[in-house]
Amino acid sequence: MTGNTLAAPPTPLRDARGRALRDLRISVTDRCNFRCGYCMPKSVFSQTHRFLPHADLLRHEETARVAAAFVSLGVHKLRLTGGEPLLRKGLPELVAQLAALRTHAGRAPDIALTTNGTLLARQAPALRAAGLTRLTVSVDALDDALFQRINDVGVPVAQVLDGIDAALAAGFGPIKLNMVVQRGVNDHEIVPLAAHVRARWGTQAVLRFIEFMDVGTTNGWRMDQVLPADAVRERLHAQWPLEPLDAQAPGETARRWRYADGGGEVGFIASVTRAFCHDCNRVRLSALGRLYGCLFASQGNDLRALLRGGASDAELAAHLTAFWQARDDRYSELRGQGQVPEQRIEMHYIGG
Ligand code: SAM
Ligand code: SF4
Ligand code: SF4
Repeated sequence: MTGNTLAAPPTPLRDARGRALRDLRISVTDRCNFRCGYCMPKSVFSQTHRFLPHADLLRHEETARVAAAFVSLGVHKLRLTGGEPLLRKGLPELVAQLAALRTHAGRAPDIALTTNGTLLARQAPALRAAGLTRLTVSVDALDDALFQRINDVGVPVAQVLDGIDAALAAGFGPIKLNMVVQRGVNDHEIVPLAAHVRARWGTQAVLRFIEFMDVGTTNGWRMDQVLPADAVRERLHAQWPLEPLDAQAPGETARRWRYADGGGEVGFIASVTRAFCHDCNRVRLSALGRLYGCLFASQGNDLRALLRGGASDAELAAHLTAFWQARDDRYSELRGQGQVPEQRIEMHYIGG
């Protein structure tokens, strides 16, 4: 798509449950240099695992074309993810192509990136210069031995923390930090990590606690490994009293709180214990160019075939419109009712 200059739709595009389309998450690679057990356990993703061949991945121009079509349909937030997105070659070029798009409000879309932070120190300046607006870095523990056990490839936590320093120096901030909390694995790190974040970055970092989810079929998820977000909040509140903040935008996944002493903000993503499907405005594009209406979907919609088959911009936009209008997914709400699909896409194919 050469431009995205359609007139503003009178109302946002709505899915079958009346949810507006706002947010496109783009996985740029299925590869990762970590083997977090909750996402790509080493037992399954071993050295013999075959990642997707490069020729099968969407090329950056193809990704930008899909993004342009979505922006013309009302999407104003793009998030790059993976796998580990910083492993994908030429990422700043893709960011620059996305930053050249214009939303219906006439502005560049908000462009965010979720990363494990290992390659940030080297890449943050180029990403910033290309137009990346926001960063989220995953950090599951402060204790180095535990951090190395969780990533399962021996990367020290200092490498990630230094990457966050470098990203702040490059002009990003506040930066969001994601901690996936697993009961009995890293829940004793909640307060130490929060203390470190407060002391080192203050209001320039927002630590968010994510409930361990049953994404994919390889992470051996059990409900008793989930520490509910309310319990995480109580532990923090006992240490530093917290006050609730209003949501900034509809469809926000994190509930926001601030430290009463002015020490900054934290967020709680209760994807398991308080499902937020009712206003989920996110669509996901895999590195293969398949489209998913839900993190827990089993079937993707093959956009790559459409793109490589010569579809026009108008045909692409009509296809995406029909996809969103038919969307009915609400997996997290159904999980409680025992309606768990057997096949679910793995997290590293479609990102978080
Ligand atoms: N590799 C990058 C990273 O780790 O930040 C981006 C991709 S990763 C799939 C995106 C986010 O999903 C990360 O914050 C990660 O911690 C989170 N995540 C992965 N598996 C998860 C699970 N089973 N439950 C909850 N969050 C998960
Ligand atoms: Fe890699 Fe991110 Fe998955 Fe960890 S959570 S294995 S860093 S993609
Ligand atoms: Fe959205 Fe699916 Fe998650 Fe519900 S389960 S919030 S529909 S991604």
